[in-house]
Formats: sequence, structure tokens, C-alpha cells
Amino acid sequence: MYIIVERIARFWKKKDGNIRCTLCPHNCIIREGRRGLCKIRENKNGKLYTLVYASCSSANVDPIEKKPLFHFHPGSMVYSLSTVGCNLKCMHCQNYSISQAAPEEAFLVDILPEQAVKEAKKKSDGIAFTYNEPTIWWEYTYDTSKLAKRSGLYTVFVTNGYINEEPLREISPYLDAANVDIKSMDDEFYRKITKGRLEPVLNAAKLYKELGIHLELTYLIIPTKNDDEEQIKKFVKWVMEEFGDEQVIHFTAFYPTYKMIHLPPTPIKTLVRAYNIGKEHGLKYIYLGNVPHGIYENTYCPVCGNLLIERYGFSSRIVGIKNGRCSKCGTKLPIII
Ligand code: SF4
Repeated sequence: MYIIVERIARFWKKKDGNIRCTLCPHNCIIREGRRGLCKIRENKNGKLYTLVYASCSSANVDPIEKKPLFHFHPGSMVYSLSTVGCNLKCMHCQNYSISQAAPEEAFLVDILPEQAVKEAKKKSDGIAFTYNEPTIWWEYTYDTSKLAKRSGLYTVFVTNGYINEEPLREISPYLDAANVDIKSMDDEFYRKITKGRLEPVLNAAKLYKELGIHLELTYLIIPTKNDDEEQIKKFVKWVMEEFGDEQVIHFTAFYPTYKMIHLPPTPIKTLVRAYNIGKEHGLKYIYLGNVPHGIYENTYCPVCGNLLIERYGFSSRIVGIKNGRCSKCGTKLPIII
């Protein structure tokens, strides 16, 4: 039986007899006895509680490449934790069985921060909060990340970027890396398909970078929804303008799921076209994901073409990097080893 591990939540205010949660850009107004849109924050007797403080729906050891993070400790293993709930409602969510569930609807196991760090130390090099949205699990991710950093582990968010500025600033000293999903460059897409908005996501991605957190971006290409060339161009232009040519981006393939089973998987040629658009605009590190093994997942030196990191599926081998530089031409590389 699931026992709710509730704690008083952070980031909320009293508002006209109700509560306003200020953790994410929804800023939900929550009446007595009700929960926010993410299903895991509840107003009880005029106080906001998180219902999933240490409640984990999964705890696996994954290669860091699976997050995906390709320029952050390549080849390392990461203890990966999730809970339930999400602050977006993506119709194409690959993990909808946990992301759209309430705590009572899932099998959850309590793993307190101390335990999580102990397990991570035994089995891996870091801790990732992933599979469902870490933002809504802020209290637990904060405590666990703080402990993890003290123990010499790295910490990672795999996130939809739907977070307000204050909570992101507060956790940032304890967060080393993030993969932020940019689901589309169209606000209409965000409103219809995710029940969120585009601008807060773009702002959060910029803030992650500004705060010194290693950032990689993922753009999942969904046929007929966000795959037209203008959208892709808008995305790569934004990346170039805001982050420059060394920003790592992952274009990944969609597979029919949840409320989008009527759509086909992303054709390889669409992904390759996106890759080429990125290259034409000057981006140096573009990867294709959820596709069969190929040259699009290796890392090459942008100056001399030397193979730097060879990848096969989720495994990787550093073959052309010496002291942070290309072993052939000496170019300094934006890769954290
Ligand atoms: S974290 Fe949850 S309750 Fe808080 S504003 Fe976001 S969706 Fe609403």
C-alpha cells in the first residue's frame, strides 16, 4: 500500500483564502482540499503540501547518454530517480503512466535523500531526476542534490523547463547539468498539446545556462506537429542567438504513444533534414536520437573532423580527446569529462 510522504511544500502564498503555488509558471490557485495541475501538491488546512517528498516510481542505473547528455561525463553511469505527476500534459508523453498519474495511482517506494545518495555512491557517478518532471519534486530534488554534491556525486535534471525563476536559482548551486526539452517554437503548440506556454520554457533554458549549469537541449520532432522547416529553422536560429555555435542539441524521433497513436513515427529523412538545417546555421554539435545506430550520435572535432567520442546505442568510448582538447588538432572542446 502506498503511504503518502507529505511535507510542507516550498514556493506558495496565501491568496484570497486559497493558495497560490509559485513553483512553476502555471502559478496554480489551489482551493482547500484540492491539488494543483501536477496532481502532487495539495492545499490542506490552508497550507501547501508536497505528497511525494521521497516517493519514487523508479530507481535505475542508466548511462548518462540515455538522458540524453552527450557532453557531460561521457561513459559515466547515473542513478536515475522519478516520482509521479507532471506540470505539463503532453499528448505525446512517452512516460504518461507515471507523468499523468496521481500518487495513489502508482506503485511508489520511499527512498530518503540519504538512502538515494548511498545507493548512487555504490552504483554510479551521479544522480539524475528524470522520467517524470523533476521541477514538481523540488523539495526532494533540492535535499538530495545538496547531499549528493557533498558526497562528490554530480546531479542532473531532465526537464521540460517549466519552472519559475526563484526555485531554479535556489537549486542551481547543487545542480550540475540539465537536458531541457524544447517541444516546439510555437506557443499555440504548447497551449494545445502540452497545456503550457512557450516563453517560460525559453526563459528557463536561458537561465539554466546563465546559472552555470551544463545545458543540452532536446527537440522531439513530431510529424505534422512541429516538423516543418520553418519551425526547425526558428529553433536553430534561437539556439545560435542565445547560446552560440557550441550549444549541444539533440533532435529525437517520435514514436506513436498516449494520445498521439494516430501519428506515424518520425521518418529518418526528417531528422537528417533537421540536422542539416542546424549545420547550415553553424551549430557544431548536433545529435539524432531514438534512431538506429549511425554517425549522427558520434562526436567529431568541428575543426579537423577527428572522431572524439564513439557511441553505439547508449554506450560511448572516448577515442580522440586529450586534456580537454582534440587529440589531433588541439582544439579546446566544450565537453566535461
Ligand atoms: S508545481 Fe504543480 S501546483 Fe505548483 S504551479 Fe506548477 S502545476 Fe501548479
